[in-house]
Amino acid sequence: MASTTAGTASTCSRMTHDPIASPIDTPNFIDNEFVTSKATEWIPVHDPATNNLVTRVPQSTPEELSAAVASAQRAFPAWKATSIIARQQILFRFTHLIRDNWDRLAAAITLEQGKTFKDARGDVLRGLQVAETACGITTQLTGEVLEVARDMETRSYREPLGVVAAICPFNFPAMIPLWCIPIAVVTGNTMVLKPSERVPGASLILAELAREAGFPKGVLNLVHGSKDTVNFILDEPSIRAISFVGSNRAGEYIYSRGSANGKRVQANLGAKNHAVLLPDADKDAALNALAGAAFGAAGQRCMALSVLVTVGESSQFIPELVEKARGLVVSAGFEKTADVGPVISRESQARIESLIGSAERDGAIILLDGRGYKPENYPNGNFVAPTVITNVKTNMECYKEEIFGPVLVCISVQTLEEAVQLLNSNEYGNGASIFTKSGSSASYFQKNVEAGQVGINVAIPVPLPMFSFTGNKKSIAGGGANTFYGKPGLAFYTQQKTVTSLWRRENVDSGKQVVMPSH
Ligand code: NAD
Repeated sequence: MASTTAGTASTCSRMTHDPIASPIDTPNFIDNEFVTSKATEWIPVHDPATNNLVTRVPQSTPEELSAAVASAQRAFPAWKATSIIARQQILFRFTHLIRDNWDRLAAAITLEQGKTFKDARGDVLRGLQVAETACGITTQLTGEVLEVARDMETRSYREPLGVVAAICPFNFPAMIPLWCIPIAVVTGNTMVLKPSERVPGASLILAELAREAGFPKGVLNLVHGSKDTVNFILDEPSIRAISFVGSNRAGEYIYSRGSANGKRVQANLGAKNHAVLLPDADKDAALNALAGAAFGAAGQRCMALSVLVTVGESSQFIPELVEKARGLVVSAGFEKTADVGPVISRESQARIESLIGSAERDGAIILLDGRGYKPENYPNGNFVAPTVITNVKTNMECYKEEIFGPVLVCISVQTLEEAVQLLNSNEYGNGASIFTKSGSSASYFQKNVEAGQVGINVAIPVPLPMFSFTGNKKSIAGGGANTFYGKPGLAFYTQQKTVTSLWRRENVDSGKQVVMPSH
């Protein structure tokens, strides 16, 4: 391990180094400077395709975490007072810089997260779209006003909260930070962001671009680490709100401890998304969409389709789906022909393979087995090839667990009603899709399914940023009250204030008023 560090560099130099020949430790970003951590504990980040060391992420020290919060606190009054048009201009520049650095961001994602370079470009785009939509803040943040009585009016405003924090997962290294930064900042908050300790690179580049775009010192700070950093954020009194995306294990803890400390928390959690395939579906289009949604990004998307529910004769389509899955190229994400990259870590690979093993033991049929797959030239990567399991029952481990790998479990039922009942019995409720040519079947599904994001002949129905990301049930903490981006995203990062005023030309004294008006 090279002990070189980026130091207090003027740019994020880590990205310009060959990380394999000379790994450089990941710096914090405080007060618009990349600062070398004084950490004694470091977390190694490996390229999932090779397991070569890419960088080390610090468990930032308590002093560094406090310094990041203090920086955000110092920046807040002036940033809040900055006109909304000036904040908007900075956001415009930020979006342009993200576009200019699109491939650089995507390369950092492929290197650390493993997804294919093309897919990593999509990861950046989905975040960029949130930032671009947030540029419309000047019309989105307008309040309301009503003359509520003679000469009396009430107006409502939305004001920033103060210092807010974001805690991000590994699977969308650019998109999830960009669900948070643009909206929080354009509404006048300052932010402390903790990227996933497994994929810090994209966030570092975003910090560099934010500074170049004109974010004043302290408006965006990055700190690193795992549980200790999260606990600091949860308990730090000056942090007013927390955005979290990740697993149920971490998210339920973060939601309850953060809420108990009086903070607003929005927390998007895990999933087990079902696709219902009817016999009247456009078979080819449906099977292509299913293969993409089950195995793309190696199944590590919170909206991946991980359960296929065939209705009646559509179970006969499964062999064709298996052929499509078998045809996908599994290799390192930088390989031009790759469709499916590696999974994030050796532990994750072992966990996925053990869940496939449990299905076998439980009596399911492994129709396509991706365990032990080693692509040419990448013998040390964490690869699992597409896997299709049939004859699955709802009490099996492979059905109950979020596998988060390129594994599709298939259940067959006889009717659409049975399919909807099965979906509704599942504790998760992120996404659900139906493939059919029947409008009435689609309509029945749409109205009766308990999932937050429903696709009709659309495999991954993630709403664009003019809407909100609307998970349901166990896929979102707090009953789904605080969703990311869209109008609810703006509401999350702002505090409403209402002002009622009375202005009269003439002096009217209606005497003392000791009772509530009864008109
Ligand atoms: P994760 O929960 O392991 O990590 C997410 C963040 O929480 C990281 O920053 C990590 O440092 C922190 N963390 C992890 N364990 C913690 C603990 N015990 N205490 C405090 N903090 C902890 O999630 P991940 O593996 O990075 O991401 C995959 C998960 O995220 C999947 O479950 C996936 O479904 C979910 N996800 C959900 C959405 C959504 O919008 N619903 C989007 C993306 C990912």
